[in-house]
Amino acid sequence: MRLSIFSKLFLSHFAAIVLVSGSVGSYFYFSAIDNLMQALRSRLQNSAALISQGLDVRDLDQIRGVGDMATPVYRQYIESLRAFANANPDIAFIYVMRKEGERVSFVLDSDADRPAVAGEEYPHRIPAMMEGFVRPSVDEVITGDRWGYFLSGYSPLKSGVGQYLVGIDMYADRVQDKFEQIRLAGLLSLAFSLLLAAIFSSLLSRSFTRRIRNLSQRFTAVTPIDATAIPEAAGDELDQLSMSFDFMATQLTANQQSLQHARDELEKRVDDRTVELVRANDSLLEEIAERRRVEQRLEAASRTDYLTGVLNRRAMTRRLEQIAGRSAEEFCVILMDIDHFKQVNDRHGHDAGDQVLLRIVEEMRLGLRETDELARWGGEEFLLLLPQTAIAAATSLAERLCSRLAAATIDLAAQRLTVTGSFGVAQYRHGEDLDACLKRADEALYSAKAQGRNRVVTSPN
Ligand code: GH3
Ligand code: MG
Ligand code: MG
Repeated sequence: MRLSIFSKLFLSHFAAIVLVSGSVGSYFYFSAIDNLMQALRSRLQNSAALISQGLDVRDLDQIRGVGDMATPVYRQYIESLRAFANANPDIAFIYVMRKEGERVSFVLDSDADRPAVAGEEYPHRIPAMMEGFVRPSVDEVITGDRWGYFLSGYSPLKSGVGQYLVGIDMYADRVQDKFEQIRLAGLLSLAFSLLLAAIFSSLLSRSFTRRIRNLSQRFTAVTPIDATAIPEAAGDELDQLSMSFDFMATQLTANQQSLQHARDELEKRVDDRTVELVRANDSLLEEIAERRRVEQRLEAASRTDYLTGVLNRRAMTRRLEQIAGRSAEEFCVILMDIDHFKQVNDRHGHDAGDQVLLRIVEEMRLGLRETDELARWGGEEFLLLLPQTAIAAATSLAERLCSRLAAATIDLAAQRLTVTGSFGVAQYRHGEDLDACLKRADEALYSAKAQGRNRVVTSPN
């Protein structure tokens, strides 16, 4: 049989409460009965002792047989015993007994209906009664005789110990009634505790199962479960809860895997994108480098002469300004003009003239020092800058170049020719205007031309 968690919890909790309350109830029930018996016994015993104080052994010694029942003493005692018995509704009879040897007989009896007569022997030997002749005692259990069933208390007479006792009988049914009351109260409290146990057990079980159901619902809210996924024989709520949990755990693991997959995908895409970016960056850097090279080429082109590749006039002017700005530097300039170049053009053509220009530059370069700089100053006119050079050294350099040029042969397509050049040398004077220096070089050149060309003239310092 499959029990729900509610039933299991209810039954176990209910059983536990019933067990505990049953044991506690039984303890109280039995101790209540015991207490009642004790209370009754001590009351009977005390009453017997109380009555015994009002009796005189000497009077009692006089009462021996039926004939003595008419005496005033007998009547007086009987009246007082009946008065005591009537005052207490639980008490059935009060009597006085005498013991002579083994014989026990009645002396007084308060019974109005069927009284024992004086001197009548009492046949029973009830242990508590026999003890009552010596010391106060009470029946352990309900005892019976021809008058009915009673619980009795006994007390010896003070001056007649061992000889006389006072007995008090309490109706057994009164005692039973009291026991019945206790039993009824016990049963009522048992029923009440069962009811309470049922209510508490139900509340407790309900609160547990409600929480379990809540938990189950939360699980299914996280990962909705197909109702058919839980088989019919899934067991109680806890089994269903653990199934929901397993299902949720499986779903979560699957989600985690797909998350991991997505993360891997993302990482791969980031890597790919990074590679693309690095490539783009490389090509950008390459482009920047190319641009820089182009700029450098353009810048170089802006500084050089398109035909011969030496510095152009603008670049050389800037160099001259720079070097003239440095106060301590000593330098010279040489201005060179090719002699009768117009004739070369006229005879061989303009292209041949260009070839000649290139060849002259080549020749000049070979004759220059490392620090010297060459520029095309005009059409077939060149300017040389000689840093840290004194006028004498500059003149001798010009002389060497002049000789070199004159000695050089220039091979054109059809023929071989030679050219010469005229040179004007000038040294820059500190603080001098640059144009004035160049003018002096130009004048020296003019002078060289005037003197017949193919020579060097130095401007006086
Ligand atoms: P001089 O000895 O007096 O200098 O005589 P010259 O013929 O050289 O006279 P000038 O200096 O006046 O003539 C220069 C000529 O150089 C004029 C021009 O046709 C020529 N020329 C200038 N630039 C170039 C050039 O780039 N290429 C060629 N082929 N010829 C040029
Ligand atoms: Mg010229
Ligand atoms: Mg010329």
